Amino acid sequence: SVPMSFFGGIGGASRQGILVKGSNYLEMLAQSEIVVLDKTGTLTKGNFQVTEVRPEDGTDKEALLEWAAYAECYSSHPIALSLRRAYGRELEPGRVDAPEEAAGRGLTAKVDGHLVAAGNRKMMEEMGLSPKGTDPVGTVVHVAVDGTYRGRIVISDEIKEDARQAMEELKRVGVQRTVMLTGDAPAVAEDVAKKLAIDEVYAGLLPLGKVEKVEELWRQKSKNGRLAFVGDGINDAPVLSRADIGIAMGGLGSDAAIEAADIVIMDDKPSRLATAIKISKKTVRIVR
Ligand code: ADP
Ligand code: MG
Repeated sequence: SVPMSFFGGIGGASRQGILVKGSNYLEMLAQSEIVVLDKTGTLTKGNFQVTEVRPEDGTDKEALLEWAAYAECYSSHPIALSLRRAYGRELEPGRVDAPEEAAGRGLTAKVDGHLVAAGNRKMMEEMGLSPKGTDPVGTVVHVAVDGTYRGRIVISDEIKEDARQAMEELKRVGVQRTVMLTGDAPAVAEDVAKKLAIDEVYAGLLPLGKVEKVEELWRQKSKNGRLAFVGDGINDAPVLSRADIGIAMGGLGSDAAIEAADIVIMDDKPSRLATAIKISKKTVRIVR
């Protein structure tokens, strides 16, 4: 049976927009030792702005953005939404066929019968293309059409307003290690981690790489400590179910993430994490 105060704890959490799916998660949360966070959509807004459009010779800016926006027509990734918004015009879905996501790298689709690839440097290299020159600091979407490199679009995300404070509060409620995982480039990842005073950062990870990293971190925790993973579920749903406590951002998150998670933060605010841990500790104290 579940002690009454756990209902109090779950109720208290829900009034703060924190949905806890069972009293056992509240109990585990009180023992949080390592908190692992995804970057995009979790610590950053996932609301990318296009800062630069840099086509190769023979392609113009408008065309590059159009190829990218159309290729991203069916994707719900925050990068896709941003590119479509930057393009600004209504898309004709009939021009797009066979969209395929390459999780953690980008995607391909047929646009007007041409095979368009939009993704990161790793994806281009896997296709045998090596974009010349260095990439500016930022998240870069490279675009290739029918195997020819056409240029890059630089986008940048914003850190959530409460993220820095949220990471500090985690330490205050007893979390020993904060770790950020991302599929994004190391330069972007390190910049965000530094601004947020996150202890450790691992970048360039594919979805499977995130799972492996979480398993490795899990083996490093103490016997009674718990590992929590916080993500938006886009490319990280497998990790949500691997962690002792899987926490999803409910606003941005996919339905799959909300289902896979043990705890859902309805308003996407990372500062809710420390609040949840505080509530859990208080609840456990009352019960014991
Ligand atoms: P994160 O780990 O920060 O949540 P993802 O795993 O979703 O990021 O994506 C990792 C990287 O893969 C992105 O930074 C981007 O370079 C590339 N990428 C992923 N999805 C897309 C997409 N739809 N269009 C272009 N690039 C993408
Ligand atoms: Mg993500």
